[in-house]
Amino acid sequence: MTNKTLTSCLGDLDITDGTVFDACANTDEEFKLIKKNWRKKVLAEHPDKGGDPDKFRTTNASFEVLRDLYQQSKVKDGTYSSYLSESAKAEAAESDIDIDELFTKYSKNTNVPSWDFYEEAAEEDVPGYKVETARSGRAKCTVCKKNSGKVAIADSAAAEASTAIVATSTASRSSSRAKKSASSAVVKQNDTTVIGLGEVRVGSFDKMAGSYGRWHHLECWRVPKKVQNGLTDPSDEESCLRDLLSMEEVLLTGLAAMDEEDQMTFVRHVINSDHWAGNRKRKAGAASGPVKQKVPRSRPNQSRHQKLPRGERRSPLDLLPM
Ligand SMILES: [Zn+2]
Repeated sequence: MTNKTLTSCLGDLDITDGTVFDACANTDEEFKLIKKNWRKKVLAEHPDKGGDPDKFRTTNASFEVLRDLYQQSKVKDGTYSSYLSESAKAEAAESDIDIDELFTKYSKNTNVPSWDFYEEAAEEDVPGYKVETARSGRAKCTVCKKNSGKVAIADSAAAEASTAIVATSTASRSSSRAKKSASSAVVKQNDTTVIGLGEVRVGSFDKMAGSYGRWHHLECWRVPKKVQNGLTDPSDEESCLRDLLSMEEVLLTGLAAMDEEDQMTFVRHVINSDHWAGNRKRKAGAASGPVKQKVPRSRPNQSRHQKLPRGERRSPLDLLPM
């Protein structure tokens, strides 16, 4: 037992006085401030910089407790500052979440991503990426759309060439073959640009729009360097899931809300270095031709029927060693 309270979680991030939240208009802004404090602390206390690993873990666990409350919209009275009031301190801030249990479990996560990871990952106010199970089959994949655009250009070029051929009455076998293959490619590409209902998709935060867009099929998403840097052991799926869940609200969002099967689908994509952005092997391949034959994507249609009911989500806590 740690007798942890929300007041002491805030204290671990050097937030002891409610007035620091005075300028915050809502919980979102309060949470951003909490995140800023956490980042400052975690960079200063990181074991890479000679910090005490236990203290580092406590800071992280306290942040994760506060983040859970935020994600589940369970911040009392919609304000973190209420946990710093005298009465809250006296009552040990009652809550329908067992803070002590939550903190104890989070503090058992011994993975320590590098200092550089924290430096880069927590730079932005808003997490850069969102992963989710598509709830509609309407969004198109940015990468596939771009590729099908290239094919369409090739197709219209071939059509122009063939018009020219008709005008001069010279039959060119190779041009008409090029045209045929280009247009059949368009038909195939059109079917695959859409991200189907129930598929895992990844989007990035659009600062102008203030929302997530540029959706990708999971298979089309290159794992950014920032995410790669946070993986402490890419050979271990469970460890990797813990690392990715601890990036929630920092570098990515949405993973904690997904069901177990989709979480693991995401993990398996992320740990495969063939999918990493900046992978040299991949770059060499990409440079070899403008319109490449598309590798068929595996669609987990069959397994959809064996999925857990929607309500049965895996909490990040279930993954932590007891
Ligand atoms: Zn795609």
